[in-house]
Amino acid sequence: MCKFNCKKIIIASHNAGKLREITDLINPYGLETLSVETLGLLAPEETGSSFEENAYVKAFSAAKASGLLALSDDSGLEIDALDGAPGIYTANWAEQSDGTRDFFKGMEKIETALREIGATDAANRSSRFVSVICIAWPNGVAEYFRGEVEGTIVWPPRGNDGFGFDPIFQPKGYEHTFGEMETYKKHGWKQGDRSALSHRARAFRHFSVSFLEKR
Ligand code: IMP
Repeated sequence: MCKFNCKKIIIASHNAGKLREITDLINPYGLETLSVETLGLLAPEETGSSFEENAYVKAFSAAKASGLLALSDDSGLEIDALDGAPGIYTANWAEQSDGTRDFFKGMEKIETALREIGATDAANRSSRFVSVICIAWPNGVAEYFRGEVEGTIVWPPRGNDGFGFDPIFQPKGYEHTFGEMETYKKHGWKQGDRSALSHRARAFRHFSVSFLEKR
């Protein structure tokens, strides 16, 4: 399977929060990870219309430019009452007119959109975080691994852990938001089993079972 160097993998993300989580998730497998920023690669434009397509754009552009295996994550929050928005545009909802991202403003935008349609009870605030991990080789071949976690949008935001929209997402069956969980809790890691809670940890579990452990 490993026609190219599979001991080294480029993590195709310019998002510091994601990069930190992906590095934590991949570390136990003893792969050498390199970041696109260290290699001086710019973020490609995400022109796809699905998580899979955008994940491919990111992973393949890094693989092609470096000649190495590359891994990307495209993720976002789907809110049922908003017909799945912000979905693949989640990062854009935090984008300000000067091009910077303000996640508190992004969370307020979600809250405003929910109030405008009267979605003020937990019952009509169901949502899910989705993560699609793509690994791409320099020749364009790719594999995908999807993870999802169901939950509810809460207001006001709670907690300073995690990143992005974590403070307003409370996973189903838990009393805390992702923003109130330390990384290992958000990942849902328990020693000695394959448990996974967060969308990214679940996508990663598929990735590790079908790829990393078969290298
Ligand atoms: P993209 O995958 O680069 O399009 O960005 C996805 C956006 O979704 C991120 O910038 C975050 O705002 C949000 N997001 C994805 N995963 C998480 C997560 O685990 N916690 C909080 N926000 C997330």
